[in-house]
This record gives sequence, structure tokens and C-alpha cells, in this order.
Amino acid sequence: MFSHSRLLTFEQCGLRYKFRYIDKLETEVERSVEAFLGSMVHETLEKLYKDLMFQKLNTEEEILEWYNERWRKMWNDGILIVRNEYGPENYRMMGERFIRDYYRRYHPFDRPRTIGLEIPVKIRLDNEGRYLMRGYIDRLAYAGNGVYEIHDYKTNGSLPVNEYLEKDRQLALYAIAVKQNYSDAKRVKLVWHFLAHDKEIVMEKSDEQLEKLRKETIELIDRINSAKEFRPRESAICDWCEFRSHCPLWSHISRVENLEPNEYLNDPGVKLVNRYAELVVKKKELTDEIEKVREAIVKFSDRTGSSVIAGSDVVVKVWKGERIKLPGKNESERVAVEEILRDAGLLEEFSTIDAYGLSRAISSGMVPEDVVKRLERFVSRERIERLYLRDVQKEE
Ligand code: SF4
Repeated sequence: MFSHSRLLTFEQCGLRYKFRYIDKLETEVERSVEAFLGSMVHETLEKLYKDLMFQKLNTEEEILEWYNERWRKMWNDGILIVRNEYGPENYRMMGERFIRDYYRRYHPFDRPRTIGLEIPVKIRLDNEGRYLMRGYIDRLAYAGNGVYEIHDYKTNGSLPVNEYLEKDRQLALYAIAVKQNYSDAKRVKLVWHFLAHDKEIVMEKSDEQLEKLRKETIELIDRINSAKEFRPRESAICDWCEFRSHCPLWSHISRVENLEPNEYLNDPGVKLVNRYAELVVKKKELTDEIEKVREAIVKFSDRTGSSVIAGSDVVVKVWKGERIKLPGKNESERVAVEEILRDAGLLEEFSTIDAYGLSRAISSGMVPEDVVKRLERFVSRERIERLYLRDVQKEE
């Protein structure tokens, strides 16, 4: 069964999806501090509303005490802190602030009426039951007159713009489930609580929007189910990825980053890259110097009228000519050039296939399969190796 986070993981990075959901790799990193903070705050708000259902209204101090106790009990050193300029205490205090702001804004928490907390939902995307999803609604509330509200707590630092929330899949999928499970549901409001900003955003989806989402989600599930390749995709998420030590983009970096300086410099990979970087810099310096001398030789030849210049053991012959340059295939004048060649019956003779563009189109699946099959006997495959030197300091 799929979940919103499972779909999102696939969209963000195919390899992380494979590691997590197909290979089910074990990792040493328990979870990130951001995820830990999120779950502590969620648990605290759940406790607040659960107690209310039993007619117990916690005071601000009581609920914060519960949160701090829970934090201390659950904290462990396997929790990953990426932003290492901040410690666990900073994150714990952030959570305190989120809860305090929320408490003050919504006290006494009786509107609208809460009908469920951390509710597990099944979302049926088709009638046959082939496309089933599951999720958890942080808090489901009933506002009367057939109006339901799905409340979701966000503890991330950024406040997404409306455009992002309009595309957000998670709560809209839950809205489908609420409409499926509550026959009196006329409207379903989606309510995001951005706790870091003490801000509430409310949206509602039309039936047409939900239908569009349903179809798109089915398409995405089909794409995932038929995927054969799961490639790594580098992004800001890599810093929080629990599979860095397994990922080809990060495994070497992870392996050497905590080595002592001596060990680090003796690592064969580190040695090779350092040597390569040194040589590339030398090559660049040399290339610049060669260019300067080349220009000086041309100037010397222009000034003296000599086209062969003598050295000690070698001579340089200076050839000056002209090369015809035609508009490239993306330039506007290209059409006119082709027109002239076509009129002259020369187009076929001079038109060439853009072999590079064609091979890229084949690799990225843009060429229909039947055409690829027909081209197959002309296509040879060769392993390509390219090295890109990147400046680590600059990236940081
Ligand atoms: S480290 Fe980055 S690229 Fe590698 S699996 Fe994780 S998210 Fe994907």
C-alpha cells in the first residue's frame, strides 16, 4: 500500500525510494532531529486533544512539562543533527515555542469539535481496490452542517506559498478519504498549522480538483510499479538522507569524512582526486600560457610578414585562412539556409543527423520504442567516463 511519503520519496530520489521501500535497508541513523522534533510536537498536541476528549484541559505549564519529559525520555544519540551549529537544546526549545504559541492561539480548543486524532485512513483511488493508499490525519474535526476539517501540524521552518499548498497532495488525498468514509461530508476543509510561524492556512478542494488528483496519483503509482531504474538525484535532501553511506554519490565522502587527517590523506580515493585536481590546475595554467604565446606568434607573423617562424630545433608555420560558419540548427536563419539548399536539390547531401541529440533522446526514452528497435542495429554503446572537478569549499 502506498502512502503520501512513499510517493514523495520516489519523486524526490529514485534511489532513496529503492533503498527504503524495496531493499528495506537498515541504517544507523535513527532519524533526523527535525523528524524527532516533529513527532514530539505531534504527540504533545495529540495528548492535549485526547485529554480534552476526557474533559481534562491541561494548563500551558502542564502540557509543556509533558512535552519536555517526553523529549528527555525519547532522545538518543542516534538522532541526526545536520546543522551542527545547533544542539538538541535549541530544537527542544523550538518545540516549546511552537506548543506555547499554539496553546495561546487556540485555547480552550473547543472549536471546531475534534472527532478523531491520529486517525488511520485508507484512500481508495479506484473501485476495484487495486490502488489503495493509507495515511494518518493529525486531527479530524467537525464544524457542523456537513463541514469537516482536516488539521495538519507542520514543524518545518519554511512557510510554503499558496501555489505550493495548492499542489500539496497529502491533505487533498485525506479529503478523498473523508468524503468516502463520511456520507454526510458536504465540504472538507484542509487546515495547515505552520507552528514555526504561528500561522494557519485553510484551503478547500473542489470535486474536480480531487478527481484530477486521484487520476494523477494512479498514474504516479503505475510509474513507480513499472520503474526499472532507480537513479540517485542529488538535492538538499541528501543532507538528511539516511542512506548516504550506501549511495554512490556520497558513500566515499561518508567513508572518509570522519577519518583522522593522516588516514584521510592516505585514502587511495582522496590521493587520486588530489593528484587529479593538481594536474587539472596545471593543465589550465599551461593552456592559458600556450594561448598567450600562440597569440604573440600570430602578431609576430603579422608584423614581420613571415609565415614560418624559426625556433632552436623546430619551426612554427602560421596558417591564416577563413572558415565558413553557418547558422546553427537552433538559429532563426537556419530555415532560410535549408530552403536554399532544398531548392538546389542539395539538402539531403548536406543535412546531417545530430548524433549526440539523437542518442540523448534515445537514452531518455523520448524516441518511440518501435523507432529505437529499428535503429538498434546502427547503434553501438560505449562506456563513457567523464570527471568533473568541483570545489568543495565553494559548495559549502
Ligand atoms: S543521498 Fe541523495 S542521491 Fe543518495 S539516495 Fe539519498 S537522497 Fe538520493
